[in-house]
Amino acid sequence: MPVGTQATVKGLSQRDLHDDLHAPIILSNTYHLFLRPGHELIRKLGGLHNFMSWSGAILTDSGGYQVFSLSDLRKITDEGVTFQSHLNGDTHKFTPASTVDVQMALGSDIMMVLDECPEYPVSHEYARVSMQRTVSWAGEAMRHFHGLRGQWHEFPNPRQALFPIVQGSMFPDLRSECAEQLVELDADGYAIGGLSVGEPRPLSMEMVEATEPHLPRDRPRYAMGVGMPLELAEYVARGVDMMDCVLPSRNARNGWLFTSQGKVVIKNARYRDDAGPLDPNCGCYTCRNYSRAYLRHLFQAGEILFASLATRHNLARYLDIMGEIRQSILLAQFPQYLESQRRLAAIRDEDRNGE
Ligand SMILES: [Zn+2]
Repeated sequence: MPVGTQATVKGLSQRDLHDDLHAPIILSNTYHLFLRPGHELIRKLGGLHNFMSWSGAILTDSGGYQVFSLSDLRKITDEGVTFQSHLNGDTHKFTPASTVDVQMALGSDIMMVLDECPEYPVSHEYARVSMQRTVSWAGEAMRHFHGLRGQWHEFPNPRQALFPIVQGSMFPDLRSECAEQLVELDADGYAIGGLSVGEPRPLSMEMVEATEPHLPRDRPRYAMGVGMPLELAEYVARGVDMMDCVLPSRNARNGWLFTSQGKVVIKNARYRDDAGPLDPNCGCYTCRNYSRAYLRHLFQAGEILFASLATRHNLARYLDIMGEIRQSILLAQFPQYLESQRRLAAIRDEDRNGE
């Protein structure tokens, strides 16, 4: 899922996303939209799809992650989290019920429950307390959502799904325990959160492995905030169906491009007179029309067009990889595909120094 934090994937129009990239679903951030322009305004304007003119699906996170990573002076209690806006310092409170209300006003297709995403590393003791809080918040959110069933038709999108989030820091026992408890909620899908918080990569994979066997096989599993291009197949191999990541779009703006032949850092002098396409194996608008030399020039000159062309390509690359994975599964060739990705990961350095 491309990330559209502020109800926009930076640098792209909805036409680019829909007609060129064929992105079926994007992610938007509850925390940001709650603060600005406000969920009630978006509800009044017909919901997020209507507001941003997007006919595809939208997943909204609960805002918990941003509260824990962006806002100042947050205070967590069993009731919820009080925080100060990073925009103007105003004090707000998110509770499991209020974040469902906000997401119902936005009318996303998939909503996430409020969770606590602990920093890395934390003690097992704290991770357990935090995980139990996340489980009890998930129960509250789910009960609140179903309690509103009679009013669903009054919201912009009467057919929303609500996913709980498995936490437990980097402790496999807590991950399993959390997943087992959340599965009792019989949700439409489940997310694995608290990854990509600074832990070594093998540890993220281990946490997914500890979680996955407990999640129902007939519901989507969503690994939040991952990953690098050659890791996508690794997550899929561990039973993950959905992922979101800011890397393709954020790195694009910084001139870091993912290609089928490895990374291209466009500012490098070697591309100064390179007339070839960014990625000869890519069919995106950028690769069909522009040379590496031109892209490098736009980047060096700080031109807006660079961000747009680069984002378009990086997202196309990610969506292509997911397409390759789906295709290999349909052809019963996924193990071979995974092996090929592992061979590439061993020789390429694109997965390192990603920031
Ligand atoms: Zn391309």
